Amino acid sequence: MSSSFGVEKEHAARKQHRCEWCGETIEPGERYAYFAGYNDDFYAYKMHLECRDAERREWREYPGCEYEGFESYVRKRGMTYNQTDRARKAEREGSN
Ligand SMILES: [Zn+2]
Repeated sequence: MSSSFGVEKEHAARKQHRCEWCGETIEPGERYAYFAGYNDDFYAYKMHLECRDAERREWREYPGCEYEGFESYVRKRGMTYNQTDRARKAEREGSN
């Protein structure tokens, strides 16, 4: 039997958290998105609101790939994987 459910909420942080998307700190008092659910395995993770938006943009760019290859902490805050890639290239080219 397979079942899945999930909830998404917005919280104001009461203590520091780490954003699953960019790896940066979510500061106390900052609002963040909280996801929890069950999809073969229990999951719960937290993201900056702009990172949650970036995730949605990325899903639109690559429909159906939601959790395939999702890697924590590899993207820049509020950016999709492609945007992060471009920003990193620009940083390398602009650093000389
Ligand atoms: Zn983030």
